[in-house]
Amino acid sequence: MMIVQSTPGSRVPVPSPVFPVQYAEAGATWSLSQWEAEFARIPLVIRQEFISSLIDESGDLVRFGYRVGSVDWLVTGEGRWPGFSASYGALYETGQATDLHMTSKRVAVRSDQPVTLTLVHEFGHHIDTTFHRFRGEPWAPNSALRHRAPFAATWQTVSPSIPSALYGATNVAEWIAEQWRCQIHGDGATFLQLMGGSRSAADTIRAEWVSMFPTMPAFSY
Ligand SMILES: [Zn+2]
Repeated sequence: MMIVQSTPGSRVPVPSPVFPVQYAEAGATWSLSQWEAEFARIPLVIRQEFISSLIDESGDLVRFGYRVGSVDWLVTGEGRWPGFSASYGALYETGQATDLHMTSKRVAVRSDQPVTLTLVHEFGHHIDTTFHRFRGEPWAPNSALRHRAPFAATWQTVSPSIPSALYGATNVAEWIAEQWRCQIHGDGATFLQLMGGSRSAADTIRAEWVSMFPTMPAFSY
């Protein structure tokens, strides 16, 4: 279905049993069913775990949701996102608390970008930064996956060999989000490039993902 424009520029709630969207821009050009189908590529067990609310040890509430709209709406409109730049297809907020005991994880995504470029990728950032929390570990500096074995050391080893044209070559955070996206999309060729062409590195990283998430889709590279 298409979201039909009623009041341009305003926020509208988007009821969906699949896609955890906070709200969207009224009249923005996007198809809810298409976004639901894309989000549903992520195994259900993983989605359920990582979009559920979590009250962690410090009392922070961790929640996750997308907002969807045009660039203008996200930069200056009701979907305004601090730090959002028109040059970004999407933005993941890492969850700095703005109110005591309130933290949320949200992503803003442009409705004029193909969903395959943003939706799963941003979920990868969410996993990177919250995996430890959802598995019961307290927050600590450098607790994100990108700072841990085997990701940190593998990045150090393979990053010089990643083709610079790949977005996953940008930094270790984008590398993690992109390797997650490749596994969900079945893009083995890009995954191997993200490993600098090293099959042993690919094996190590793939094994870690499967260890974390036994329901990961079958994947070859
Ligand atoms: Zn990213």
